[in-house]
Amino acid sequence: MKKKTVLPFAATFRFLDELNDFLPKERRGREFSYAFRGKPSIKDAIEANHIPHTEVGCIVADGIPVDFSYHLLNGNRVSVHPVRAAVSRSSPVRLRAFPAPLFIADVHLGKLARYLRLLGFDVAYDQKLDDTGIVRRAVEERRIILTRDRRLLHAKVIIHGCCLHHQEPQAQLREVIDRYDLKKRLHPFSRCLACNGILQRVAKGSIIRRLEPKTRLYYEKFKQCVVCGKIYWRGSHCERLREVLELADIHDVAATSD
Ligand SMILES: [Zn+2]
Repeated sequence: MKKKTVLPFAATFRFLDELNDFLPKERRGREFSYAFRGKPSIKDAIEANHIPHTEVGCIVADGIPVDFSYHLLNGNRVSVHPVRAAVSRSSPVRLRAFPAPLFIADVHLGKLARYLRLLGFDVAYDQKLDDTGIVRRAVEERRIILTRDRRLLHAKVIIHGCCLHHQEPQAQLREVIDRYDLKKRLHPFSRCLACNGILQRVAKGSIIRRLEPKTRLYYEKFKQCVVCGKIYWRGSHCERLREVLELADIHDVAATSD
């Protein structure tokens, strides 16, 4: 019979708040012992517990904030906090710079990508990209990867990623906005929902032949995507925007943009 290996050292871990969603039930919301040998980096120990490093905002070992390169010691008592704007910005030891709100959504998050674009955020979304392609583009363009697949976020080269906890696009939108503190950075009607291109004002006269009769009659202000040429006007998206904001529980934002 194969002898069970006994690991010589142990540290105590506790994961806070939404990080518990990644743990097996018996380890959620409580301290547990983690056995190890040698001097693993704390990052490796966290990932061995199935938490993608991108989800960690602050690590405290024996009362002292540490970064990912800290080596775990026998008897360490570690608490691991999730990424949140407030936590990440106030931590005395930064695990990474707070990111610019540039995103890349994986192929399952088309609706979230459109919602974020509707609010003016730059969101790459390409159904032809496989996981490797998403990671490569995220690194090259310094984008935050949005996904529900935690395996996608384990690659070492990834700095910024967000493993979404919710399934519904509106709840996902809320997660992204809260996590990256985006409420004050919304620019509705500034980006094309279809291709992520920038929208520019366009004279009604120059596009009038492309408008339906009623649109021609009732609307005067138009924008056009500089990339794909799609035309936008307030009537087409205003109602939808209000709906999205309400569903995402964002009430105190004036949806003003012409
Ligand atoms: Zn476009």
